[in-house]
Amino acid sequence: MIYFLFFIAINLPKFWIKLYIGFLVLSVLTYRYYKTERGKAFFDKFFLKLPFFGPLLQAINISRFAENLSTSITFESVNQGLVEFPRKEGRNAVDLRLSPEKEKEVFGLVQRLKKDHPSINNSKSYVKLFQTGRVKYHCHIPKISLRVEPDGSVTNCQDRDHPIGNVYQEKLASILSSPTMKWLQRKAEACSSCVDSGVIESSLFWDFNLEVMANTLRLFMK
Ligand code: SF4
Repeated sequence: MIYFLFFIAINLPKFWIKLYIGFLVLSVLTYRYYKTERGKAFFDKFFLKLPFFGPLLQAINISRFAENLSTSITFESVNQGLVEFPRKEGRNAVDLRLSPEKEKEVFGLVQRLKKDHPSINNSKSYVKLFQTGRVKYHCHIPKISLRVEPDGSVTNCQDRDHPIGNVYQEKLASILSSPTMKWLQRKAEACSSCVDSGVIESSLFWDFNLEVMANTLRLFMK
């Protein structure tokens, strides 16, 4: 290896024109290949697979796409479902949530992109939860929303199999003020199972997180 480098160093002055021409030809050929449909697909796939730059390019392109359409975009993690969130229809759900390391990486990128892309809807507080890997918050969703099944039964996200009441048999107000509902609402405050932005941003808003409140106002004023 040392001899090879020595050889290159000694002979470089003799070859530099050939090297320069070779480099130029290679650059032109690469550029021309990149301009073809196949070449562009090849290089785009290659760039998207690069560590760090791949996810960054994806996030930038999605943000630009949203801006070009004059719309906005929300980045969010997805639930793993099953044990913590036993919905009937979720029994066969596959685990789609990213690993904590990947989540940190992706939301770190979103955090950086937010500075230049106002089209990103997420609050800084939401992004920070994932970027730091500490996805803990007080869930207030059972106080904010309610699910009524087609048969009238009122269910709670923490236990869909045991309805709290039925709107065909009793007043909704009495279901909402029932001890079971109150207990489930208190229990939810210790649950951080859901990772989607709707649940977390609403809960942070309910907790008077000023940054989330200001961000929500910004979205309404857009
Ligand atoms: S995080 Fe909230 S909405 Fe999600 S399962 Fe827990 S209590 Fe329900």
